[in-house]
Amino acid sequence: MVLDITFTVIGSLLILSLIPLYIYRKEIYRKFSKAGDTKTLINDLKSYLSANCPKIKFDYNVLKKFEKESDIRVKQTLIVEELIKQFAYFQYEMNTQKSVPHNMLWSSYDQNSKLLKDNKLPKDWTQRKKTAWVRDEGKCDRCGCKTELSKTNALLVKQMKDGGGFNLENIVILCNDCSRIIKSSNLEKTRKDLNLLDKLMGKIFF
Ligand SMILES: [Zn+2]
Repeated sequence: MVLDITFTVIGSLLILSLIPLYIYRKEIYRKFSKAGDTKTLINDLKSYLSANCPKIKFDYNVLKKFEKESDIRVKQTLIVEELIKQFAYFQYEMNTQKSVPHNMLWSSYDQNSKLLKDNKLPKDWTQRKKTAWVRDEGKCDRCGCKTELSKTNALLVKQMKDGGGFNLENIVILCNDCSRIIKSSNLEKTRKDLNLLDKLMGKIFF
């Protein structure tokens, strides 16, 4: 009989202790699932960036500094902003590019490669840009993303004012974001306006 009472008391206490868990089950689930969401977000960002910006070396260890942030929205936004900052400040040096096989060139190529007196682009500039894009397999020289021809920028490695010509070795292909970064005089402002920022923010779960 004494044993029965003990069992009843312990049983009741156990049930009572489970009530708060039942009442707050949604909050508890949300807390744990959100922690998981940030991990999923980071993995998602990693796989996106390694596929789309393979030439940029991201440091994911620094994301640990946001672990203590309790507001999930703030935390995920800070993570994306940190990666964008790394993308914008990645050091890149424009270098002379590969030549293309002779059969890809056209009759006026050599003549039009020379600098023009009025510092204008040659008539076959569009053809040069396309040939450089094909040479680079449609990839941006800075970040390595694959870009449509219409969304790329062809820049001269050695500028016209420094005597750089229009030969293909002096033409570099960059995506819109990288082109804006290397031309930017205010990276803090430019990095808030990159296409990549919109893409990464779109991966946040809210
Ligand atoms: Zn790029």
